[in-house]
Amino acid sequence: MLERGEILELLRGVENQDQLFQRARDIRRTYCGDEVQLRGVVHFSNYCRCNDLYCGLMKDNAQTRRFRMTEDEVVQTALAVAEAGLHTVVLQSGEDFHYSRAMLCSIIRRILDQADVAITLSLGERPVEDLRAFLDAGASRYLMKHETVNPALYAKMRPGLRLDDRLRAIETLRRLGYQVGVGNIVGLPGQTLEDLAEDILYFQEFQPDMVNIGPFIPHAQTPLAAYPCGDMELMLRVFALTRIVTGNTHMAAANTVATLDPENGQYLCLALGGANVIMPNCNPFLKSRTDKIEYEFQITTAKRYVSVGEARRVLGRAGRTVAQGPGHSLKMNAAA
Ligand code: SF4
Repeated sequence: MLERGEILELLRGVENQDQLFQRARDIRRTYCGDEVQLRGVVHFSNYCRCNDLYCGLMKDNAQTRRFRMTEDEVVQTALAVAEAGLHTVVLQSGEDFHYSRAMLCSIIRRILDQADVAITLSLGERPVEDLRAFLDAGASRYLMKHETVNPALYAKMRPGLRLDDRLRAIETLRRLGYQVGVGNIVGLPGQTLEDLAEDILYFQEFQPDMVNIGPFIPHAQTPLAAYPCGDMELMLRVFALTRIVTGNTHMAAANTVATLDPENGQYLCLALGGANVIMPNCNPFLKSRTDKIEYEFQITTAKRYVSVGEARRVLGRAGRTVAQGPGHSLKMNAAA
């Protein structure tokens, strides 16, 4: 357990940085070993009903060219991810209710009928009946970043939405039986070190099954375009502290880190921060509309497209190996 004051001191990071990273590395090795989970992200729609100021997919961004995969395309892409040897498919989209409960259940079932993979959902907030149905269809994990635990900053960054509702939605996922992933953004305009310390305390208290921490990347078509990127060193300290307070949580070296520092970002998360997961983008497996979807993805999210090959190179450079098997929650395994 770390106290708030200790976290703040380590976040300032002047003197104890090497020890901090060593401790994160040791904890990662103890609980997760040297294997890295590869989780293939199928980003199937960039429509979204939300207006998050930090995101190029925000509803009011009229310049975004939107795409939606058909049900068949999502299934084919997921099957190609499995054929490529990945054991987890992450179905990701904006909050897009074009995809009904029935459609999403059908997609999940069709994938699981034909491939031995675990399915993670990253679809934003959905009614509890949908979440139950997705579980019944076979999905086992859900990513829902909390973004920041500062309620005022949350409300500013996500107009019309409240932190309390988000945290309740995350609790609901856990209550239903999902392996739950949360995460924050480092470097949001107006964010303080105290805010980040509170995020780390939240990780410590909630003990998520998965964590996805990423730096703020300004998108040219959003109101935050003129703000600077999150700081890589601070991000690594947040990362390492999160590993220390969560122990065996699966922690992803996010693709936004590769956007911030294409050469070394994800490598440093693996080598210093305690990461044990990379989530490569897998849309190109879909042959028919590959180029278009990859292109749209890049310009609408302004995030680097991390391929499976690139992910394998990064983890090899860090002296790590690819994990075999579905990579379910180590917390749930430990509790079983
Ligand atoms: S972060 Fe997610 S929920 Fe928010 S605007 Fe972007 S796609 Fe929508």
